[in-house]
Parts: sequence; structure tokens; C-alpha cells
Amino acid sequence: MDRFSIERELQQGGVYGHFIDNRFDAPAAEHVIATHNPANAHALAQFAAATHVEVDVAVASARRAFESSWAKLTVRERQVHLRRLTDALERRTERLAWLETLDVGKPIRASRDTMRDMPYTIDYYAGVLLALTGETLEVGERDVLNFTLREPLGVCALIVPWNYPLTLALLKIAPAIAAGNTVVLKPSEVTPLSALELARAAADAGMPPGVINVVFGGGDTGAALAAHPDVAKISFTGGTETGKRIYASAAAGLKRVTLELGGKSPLIVCDDADLERAVEVAMTDCIRNAGQVCAACTRLLVDESIADDFVHALGRELAKVRIGDPCDQHTDMGPVISAAQLERIRRYERVGQDEGAEYAAYQDVSARAELHDGFYHSPALFLQANNGMRVAREEIFGPVQTVLRFRGEEEALRLANDSPYGLAACVFTSDASRAVRMAKRLQAGTVCVNYGVKAVVEAPFGGYKQSGIGKERGMQALLEDTQLKSVRLYHG
Ligand code: NAD
Repeated sequence: MDRFSIERELQQGGVYGHFIDNRFDAPAAEHVIATHNPANAHALAQFAAATHVEVDVAVASARRAFESSWAKLTVRERQVHLRRLTDALERRTERLAWLETLDVGKPIRASRDTMRDMPYTIDYYAGVLLALTGETLEVGERDVLNFTLREPLGVCALIVPWNYPLTLALLKIAPAIAAGNTVVLKPSEVTPLSALELARAAADAGMPPGVINVVFGGGDTGAALAAHPDVAKISFTGGTETGKRIYASAAAGLKRVTLELGGKSPLIVCDDADLERAVEVAMTDCIRNAGQVCAACTRLLVDESIADDFVHALGRELAKVRIGDPCDQHTDMGPVISAAQLERIRRYERVGQDEGAEYAAYQDVSARAELHDGFYHSPALFLQANNGMRVAREEIFGPVQTVLRFRGEEEALRLANDSPYGLAACVFTSDASRAVRMAKRLQAGTVCVNYGVKAVVEAPFGGYKQSGIGKERGMQALLEDTQLKSVRLYHG
């Protein structure tokens, strides 16, 4: 298997239809979207875009499956299905890695690492499902047995962005179906390829029809899905503004939501930090997925006494990053996702400089003719910035970080918390007491000490403030995909 055989196959595939009731439907010719390779802007494949009509059919399929079978299965029976799905994904990891590299522009080495972990997401929820239990309550009434039951919600609408298409889809699908819900997934219109392969894996695994449905399409499709009256919960990952629209739509139907939104996470480098380690994490956050990572630390808060050394060392590392074709095993950083995203990053370049920040790019991709067709951007820093600037407050979502200087712990905390977002934060210090003090006072859903932000399937992840509502990952995701019933039984 290689990129060329996959590209050929996709081009010969015609227009891909939605996956409903374990079948790919025949796409309606009038609503078609294309996905492009960000490394060269070539079209990769064409997909149908679901209107209200197809969304209706998909939700009806999920509702039928929920009511007739899936929610009634025993935990053991659901575990068997989940483990078959794990195996079906396991058989596809290499193919999925190529699909995401072609679709997202992620270097193939990184895609392979990500895909190796994917089947475990399903396996993990098959395992922790055993811990999803109710409890018996002492209610102080004679002859009354009061116990609680954890029950599924119904049909869950799962809407994901383009930066980690399969990871984010599986983090929603796995706990939702493990808990007995059925789902309709809508991948981003920009990166539908791995969701197509996931649907094939679900069919191969013999999932009961309707448990996992996939509809393709853009924001209109997502809005129709979120607003559907038979949807009980919306789990959304994406931009904060889209999240607010979905929250408003959910309010009208009083639906449950989990919202995983944007971030502008701080990386605090104290005067006693291991500088080499802090630089490595900052460099990784700048270039990983070309900086298009929600939890990436993009505000670098550095103690004034070491700031010059830190910036020089980081600049040296950014200059060494191998930028190029994501299909090349040696590439560290590929292109950003689209022409629109590239334009957004360039707009921020101008905004930052107009605000008075100094813009320092550490490579010049424009000088490399072989990169001209793709959406490449050089790694860069904003220096001499302050926390009031837009480049310190807004999410740029590219390989560009903003450096801010502070004096002492109190100022570091004040700057770190002075943000509309609260997704994650990192602290680098060799003082254990300071580490604990700062971890407690940072307003962020995940805090990492002497370590880069890494979201793992076993630990809850989700933002404070405008970075979201609710948690994904860990046992918490399973709890959020259920509702609690109290049963009172008089037996006198
Ligand atoms: P986006 O908000 O533009 O789109 C996300 C998804 O929502 C896509 O599938 C899109 O088609 C759909 N959508 C758009 N408008 C909609 C509407 N009105 N109703 C329903 N669905 C709609 O985000 P994006 O540009 O794809 O992704 C980048 C954003 O995602 C960044 O802000 C990033 O921080 C965020 N993100 C957050 C996390 C997290 O865990 N907190 C993880 C990854 C990405």
C-alpha cells in the first residue's frame, strides 16, 4: 500500500455517499463537495453533502437501532461488538495513516503514531464499561430500597473538525456506543477520508445497522443534525464561535452538549526551569500538525531573566525543522490545512505587526519552489508582545507562537489566566512546591508540569471558560453519555 494506489482508488471511487444502516447510499448528484490534498491543492475525492433529507434518514436509522436493539444488549454483548470494531480498525491502521496524511497534510510518521493508538480508544471503553454502575442509597425510610441506574441518552450527534479527524471521531463514538447510545457522525467537509474508512470498518465488523451512521457535508449539514428533534445529545469539537451556535440550537431542544472548543494555552517557563526541555516542548507545539492543535501552547510566558536565552534556543530549533512533503518519512512539518487557513495565519502576521509586536520567521518557505503549490507556512514567533494584543488573545491555529515576558510567579499566573480560553497550561520549574501552587491556580482543564500537553484516552480532557463545556476521555466521557435514573421500591 502506498499513497499513489490510495490516491488512484479515491479518484476512481466517484462520489462517496453517506453511511446509513450499514450501507453506503447512492449520492444525490446535486450536492457534492471535494476534499483536497493541502500539500499540492489537488482534489482527492468527492463526497455527497447531506441535506435535511439525508440527515433525517440517518437520525431515523440511529433511533431505530437504539430503540429496537442496541440499548437492550447486555454489556457483554456490546463489548463483543466493540472488540470486533477494534480489530477491524487495527487491520486498517496503515491505510488510515495514509488517508489522514493525504487529507490533513500531517507528516506520515505522525499519522502512523496517531493511528497505532486509535483501536485502543474503542478497547478502552469496552473495558471501563464494566465500571458504569448505579448505586444503592440509604434514604432513611423503612422498607424502601432506593437505587440508581445509568441509562443511555438515545441518538447522539457527533460533529468533529479537521485537525485530528479520526482521533476526535473515535473519542466521541467509543463512549457513546459503549454506553448504549447510537450515533450519527459528521466529519469536517475538509477531511472526510478517515470517516469513510471508519464506516467501512464498522460494516466489516458487523456492527448492527444504525448504531454508527456517517453523514458527509459542511456547516449546514452539521446545523441540521444538531437541530434534529430526535437527537438527544450533541457532542461537538471545533471553533468557539461554532460551539456557541450549536449551544444555542441545543438550548431550543434542551439537549445535552459536550463542547470541546478553541484555546490559547500558556507555557510558563520559570527562572529555575530545565530550559532545554521547555524549548523542546515549545518547538513541538509550534510545529505539531503545523500548529493546528487546540491544546498547543501558543503563548510562551518566559521569566524575563532567561527570556533571551529561551528565544535564541527556540529559534535555533525552529530553523532546523524539516518542512516538506508530508508523505516523506523525514518530514517534521507539512502544510496547513487550506488556502483559507494560510490566509488567516498571514492576516495575523499583519495584525501582530500593526499592534507593535516583532515578527520573526525562522525559515523561508516562499524560497522553496517545490512547496509553492501547497499551503506551507514558516514557523515563527511574535516577540516584544504584550498580553493585550490580539496575537496573544486569539487563536491563530498555525505554526506561530507569541512570546510574553514576566517577572515572578504572581505575574506569570496573572498573565496565564488573563485569557478568554482555558483549555490547557504547562509549567516548567524545578521547584516542586511552586509546581503544585501554580497547577492549583491555573485556570485550565489540563495542566502539565515539566511536560508538554498530551491528551490521553484514560484521563478527562476539556476546557474551562470559552474552551468548552464538559469532558471527553476517561470514565467521565462515559458518564456524560448517560443519564441517571433513581428507582424507589417499597417492599413493606
Ligand atoms: P469549525 O468550528 O469551523 O468546524 C467544526 C465542525 O463543525 C465541522 O465539521 C463543520 O462542518 C461543523 N460546523 C460548522 N458550522 C456548523 C454549524 N453552524 N452547526 C453545526 N456544525 C457546524 O472548526 P474547524 O475549523 O473545523 O476546527 C478548528 C477548531 O477546532 C479550532 O478552534 C480548534 O481549537 C478546535 N478544536 C478543539 C479541540 C478540543 O478538544 N478542544 C480539538 C480540536 C480542535
